Amino acid sequence: MDTFFVLPQDVHGSTLVLRGEEHRHLARSLRKRIGDPILATDGEDNLFEAVITSLGRDEAQCDVVQTHLRKNEARVSLTLAVSLLRNPARFDFLVEKATELGVRAIIPLQCERTIGRQDRHDRYAKIALAAMKQSGRCYLPKIFPVTSFEAVVAHAEDHALRLMPHERTEQSQFIGSLIKHHESAKTGLVLVGPEGGFSDRELQLAASHAVVPVSLGPRRLRSETAAMVSVAWVVGAT
Ligand code: SAH
Repeated sequence: MDTFFVLPQDVHGSTLVLRGEEHRHLARSLRKRIGDPILATDGEDNLFEAVITSLGRDEAQCDVVQTHLRKNEARVSLTLAVSLLRNPARFDFLVEKATELGVRAIIPLQCERTIGRQDRHDRYAKIALAAMKQSGRCYLPKIFPVTSFEAVVAHAEDHALRLMPHERTEQSQFIGSLIKHHESAKTGLVLVGPEGGFSDRELQLAASHAVVPVSLGPRRLRSETAAMVSVAWVVGAT
């Protein structure tokens, strides 16, 4: 069944109202009628089973039958911070896939070697919304504005698990081995670098905030691939 998005402020006790694009989709494309059951989420961890009670030109009123909390949400609350990429389409792809895989926040990073310049925040937010509904999630990942590597690393210790995939540290542990010891972590941060990789200064700064460099295997992955693989390991284990 399709999941509709309801603005948190449009949920009042046991009723909710669908508007705009969601109303159009429900009334015009799917031709739903009064009495039809629907699923809706507020993107704040609530999934509502509801029934349509009235259909107007611009809105649909529904009665909530049952509310589920954190349905289909990962146990670990994962923040994915990835350098902006030279090709913006690759970052779009990353937002979609990271949302499907269950991340709770995405931070586009400005690193020393970041080449990409565009912060397409509204576009990322739209992609995340569509991916949330499509994948059956009930949390809309928070998309941050572009943030400096330093600022994100400064708050790394807020997270129980802190990983920095880095391809050139021969001695760094494989992510799959490390993750086994952290299966009960409730919060995590993954930092992925730009096409040119992290600088030595960034590696040192991360280490000083207890961020652990990890290997994703012997092949050099593109940033967006590295991000997906890391998220899969972390979310898959928790
Ligand atoms: N030009 C860089 C490669 C950067 S790849 C170099 O040759 O040194 C882009 C980012 O993806 C890296 O910063 C890292 O975060 C991640 N990454 C890619 N492949 C990886 C691997 N095998 N192990 C760990 N991280 C990897």
